[in-house]
Order: sequence, then structure tokens, then C-alpha cells
Amino acid sequence: MAAVTLTNVVKRFGGFGVVHGANIDIADGEFVVFVGPSGCGKSTLLRMIAGLEDISAGEIAIGGKVVNDVEAAERGIAMVFQSYALYPHMTVEQNLSFGLRMNGNPKADTERRVRRAAEILRIDELMHRRPKQLSGGQRQRVAIGRAIVREPQVFLFDEPLSNLDAELRVQMRVEISRLHKELGVTMIYVTHDQTEAMTLADRIVVLKAGNVEQIGAPLDLYDDPANRFVAGFIGSPKMNFLPARVVATGQGAATVELVNHAGARLSKPLQSTPPAVGAEVVLGVRPEHFFDAGKGDCDIAVKADVAEHLGSVSYVYAGAGDDELIIEREASRQRASGDHLTVAIKADKALLFDTKGARIR
Ligand code: ATP
Repeated sequence: MAAVTLTNVVKRFGGFGVVHGANIDIADGEFVVFVGPSGCGKSTLLRMIAGLEDISAGEIAIGGKVVNDVEAAERGIAMVFQSYALYPHMTVEQNLSFGLRMNGNPKADTERRVRRAAEILRIDELMHRRPKQLSGGQRQRVAIGRAIVREPQVFLFDEPLSNLDAELRVQMRVEISRLHKELGVTMIYVTHDQTEAMTLADRIVVLKAGNVEQIGAPLDLYDDPANRFVAGFIGSPKMNFLPARVVATGQGAATVELVNHAGARLSKPLQSTPPAVGAEVVLGVRPEHFFDAGKGDCDIAVKADVAEHLGSVSYVYAGAGDDELIIEREASRQRASGDHLTVAIKADKALLFDTKGARIR
């Protein structure tokens, strides 16, 4: 087992920067998920940790040892890819043992490791099949098994569930969580799926365009995002953003009025100096933080365009002025299309951002 530390890690491809100085401390045994939109650099970061990609500047340490110049095979890591990369002509057992056999690992130890991986992943019954005789989920288990037999200090996963259907993804997500608990080994996992990040991670690293936007426990990011990007990226359905203007300030608070809802004002307590009167700001409200009319600090009227009834909750998609809002309501079976709806916002359940996306606390 090992901690992984990235210090000012930079990656440039032919002069073009794709990672701009990442500082990330991953504790021994921690499950950390790198998440962000396509092209943000998360796979590049993982590949640099794996040693599959050189770093342009900075330092990567695994288990306290700087590995900048250490070959991938010597880093004590094992990587699981989105494409399972199994050998089609070998049985499951041969696929699992291949790497160890090639390295001249003693036969008895190889057999022990393969047996253990098969037990952990519950693939004992499949040992004599070839990859084409397996389902997608079973193939992914074998791919993970190949990582387990190496008994690495650190597991790296690069979007390992992308090729699976929705149901299997949920199932494998639970399996990977269980695996982490069972092995207690450091795991670093890359995905663009914020739900996977929320459910798997001890801590999430949110990336955007090669920059680390925030690092924190899933619910800390959810409740206390550092900026509008993180607020919008973490949480499903997404946080709503309503344009607003500061209309008064005083005593550690700013009163804002929603631009598209004349007269809808609320006073937001702030720790920092409030923005000037007249400043444009953005109010962030999560779908579940709209309350019944009269039960918040201000009411807004909206017209429901579409309602989705999921059984446990309903989501109302409403156009309101220039805002497009997603509002969570108690489960309902009524069609809400065309309905007029008044909902309330509470100041302590709303976040404030400036127009550049920085949080105003
Ligand atoms: P995705 O979710 O789409 O895989 P990502 O966040 O994993 O995206 P990376 O694959 O790390 O993103 O790529 C980050 C940036 O680096 C992208 O702009 C990509 O085009 C660029 N890039 C990646 N590999 C190379 C390469 N070998 N040469 C040049 N540019 C590259």
C-alpha cells in the first residue's frame, strides 16, 4: 500500500499545456476519483502516475519515493482500462496468470494469487472460458482480476465501466467499492460521470481544462462547492443558476433581487465584504431546494413545461423569464405541463457567485 503525491505536475504536448501544475495528495488506502469533462486532462494525469506518459515538470511520488524516472513496471501499480485488453486466445485462468508467468513468478505463488483473485471477484466458475464466452461484466471482472494478481501498491482505473450498460455499471460500481474495502489498497479512478465519482470516492478531484478546481469529500463538494463550475458539475440534476443583482448591502449581508422575477429579493449573509450595490451576481439553487410557496425567503412564479415522474420524486422543468429551472417536487402522477407553479427559495439554501463563477461567501 502507498500514498501518492503529485507536486506541481505539468504536462505539455508539443508546447501545448494540458495539465497546469497539479498538486494532489492521496493518502495510503484512499479511494480518489478524478472527474471532469472530456479533455480536462484526467486520463493524462492517471497515465503520468502509471508511468505511461512522461511529466513535463513537477514531481510524482509513490510510497514516499519519487518515481519521475522509474519505469511503469517498477512503480508497483496496476491499471484497469476501459477496453479490457484481454488476450482472446487464452482462458480466463491464463489471462490472469500470464503476467506473473512471464515475470518468472514461482508457480505455486501464481496459482495462489489467481485463486484468490477469482474468489474475490467470484469468477471461479469461469476459469476455463475464453473472453468471447463471457459477458461484458465478466470480462471487466477478469480485467480487474489481472490487476489484483499483481498485488499492486496502487490500483489505477481509467473509465473502467464505460462499455457496460447502465444496470451493470451500477452493479460493478458496488463491486469496486467492495473490492476497495476488502483490499484496503490506494485506488485512483478516472471518470467523466459525476454519479460514479460521488458514489465511489473518499475524495473527489474536480478538473477543468487542466486545472484542479477543487478536492474534497463528495458531500463537501456538493454542499460547499468552491465555484460555479464545481457547483454545476457535482449533483444530478444540476444546480440551477439564476441571474440576480445586488440591490442593498449592510452588516455582513447582501440583498439580491432576481433579474427575471421582479420583486423577488432575499438577503444573503456573507463572511466577506459584499459586492457593490448594482453588481451582477448569480444565485445557485439545487433542484431539491425549492420549497412550497411562502415557506422560504422569497417566492418565484414559474410555468412548468415538462414534468418527469420518477416514482420517488418528480422533476418539473420550468421556463421562468429567461431562466430554465429544474425543480424537484414530491412524487406526483399529475401532468404538470402548462401548470403555473409558485415556489420559494431560502437564503441559507442558495449559493452566490460572481459573474466570473467565483463563489461569494
Ligand atoms: P476524456 O474524458 O475525453 O478521455 P480526459 O479528461 O481524460 O478526456 P485527456 O485524455 O487527459 O483528457 O486529454 C487532455 C488533453 O490533452 C486533451 O486536450 C487532449 O486532446 C490532449 N492530449 C492527450 N493526449 C495527447 C497526445 N498524445 N498528444 C497531444 N495531445 C494530447
